[in-house]
Amino acid sequence: MKFGGTSVGKPERMHHIAGLVTKETEPVIVVLSALSGTTNALVEIGEHISKGDRGGAKQCIDKLEAHYQAFITELVKKEESLAKAKAIIAEHFEFLNIILKISFSEALSKDILAQGELLSTKLFCVYLEEQGISHLLLPALEFMTIDSYDEPQIGSIKVKLTQLVQQHKDKKIFVTQGYICRNARGEVDNLKRGGSDYSASLIAAAINASVCEIWTDIDGMHNNDPRVVKKTVPVEQMSFDEAAELAYFGAKILHPASIWPAQTYKIPVRLLNTMQPEAKGTLITEEAGSVGVKAVAAKDNIIAIRIKSSRMLLAYGFLRKIFEVFEKYRTPIDMITTSEVAVSLTIDNDTNLKSILKELEPFGTVELDKNQTIISVVGNEIAQTEDMVKKLFGSIMNIPVRMVSYGGSPHNISLLIAAEYKTQILQQLNKGMFGLE
Ligand code: ADP
Ligand code: ASP
Ligand code: MG
Repeated sequence: MKFGGTSVGKPERMHHIAGLVTKETEPVIVVLSALSGTTNALVEIGEHISKGDRGGAKQCIDKLEAHYQAFITELVKKEESLAKAKAIIAEHFEFLNIILKISFSEALSKDILAQGELLSTKLFCVYLEEQGISHLLLPALEFMTIDSYDEPQIGSIKVKLTQLVQQHKDKKIFVTQGYICRNARGEVDNLKRGGSDYSASLIAAAINASVCEIWTDIDGMHNNDPRVVKKTVPVEQMSFDEAAELAYFGAKILHPASIWPAQTYKIPVRLLNTMQPEAKGTLITEEAGSVGVKAVAAKDNIIAIRIKSSRMLLAYGFLRKIFEVFEKYRTPIDMITTSEVAVSLTIDNDTNLKSILKELEPFGTVELDKNQTIISVVGNEIAQTEDMVKKLFGSIMNIPVRMVSYGGSPHNISLLIAAEYKTQILQQLNKGMFGLE
């Protein structure tokens, strides 16, 4: 059972999730995010320190500490528990204050980011203890590891986690941190923003769980982005493939990589609403449940690159040479379309953009479009669904489309548009494809 930031963000929510956890008959591993707002605050602290603005960092640290001090006065009642919670806060904020004095490094910034999940899990355990609920804190840094390519080491996670759990067969509730891990150098690292979902899926896979429950602030995966479109509805059932496409292409409810571990190990995933536990939510398994469109999602900050060359005409090996450049700079390509004389592709990681462009130059004319958005229409066998293409393009005729990707996956049709049209296109698709206004 993974609970996100808003699900643990208030003392009464922590009380509530303790109720949800103790209702379970099977043993559970509870994966917690940091309290909502904490990771953002820690990012800000790191940014201040990296710029040498220690005063700014100190202000953020003090503000965050005050938030936690207020939080614990409502989290626990007994003097003894309050003292324990205070000691935990003191330990972690002392750490942040020490960091202020050390010269900044990438590794140090990861240490800063880890404080959120360390705090939330420890404070939750103090509450469980006060309530007399038997439990055990499993430190994620003891089992969650990534390799030198930042890929989770599922094999070793499995061995270490199984060992830890088996040493405590008497326990039914295990609590652990989402998001944080150790990297190949043994340093504290993380699974990128929103990574607690990924932790939960990895843990569920490693332990062969009967289900991986992602508890959040909405009743499942909706048919469209509720932050952008007013009327959206939850999707009751979808396949791993559909969920993975939606997560990867921008549905924030799931971390982009969070589906593959559950899918590989055939663990059903449920998306549930902490504020409304009786709601059905979304069940994600091998079965799509139905054919046709399920949902649309948008992925921002996309860069489109077009390489035009008459040398591409009837040539072989041209695409390989282009792909090799992206491989060299470890930059994933999301969309690709080709004609006889040009290839367009998109990336979202601009870390090595300059070098990539330089190496592409010898292949032809290179054009760049920044600030693009990928709109993905996702659904089981969507490409073969009758009238789908007509409905899709019929509803967005007034919007200029830069690229279309159809047929790459039977479950996805992607469009590339300029970011300024995002809201409009999501709204028009909501009406055109789902009949929702
Ligand atoms: P948590 O802190 O629990 O991980 P997140 O904020 O990361 O929660 O994810 C939940 C949010 O994802 C929702 O509040 C919603 O605004 C957003 N979201 C974006 N797209 C979708 C979608 N298709 N279905 C449901 N929620 C979505
Ligand atoms: N706390 C981390 C974040 O805000 C991880 C998560 O919430 O999933 O990105
Ligand atoms: Mg999240």
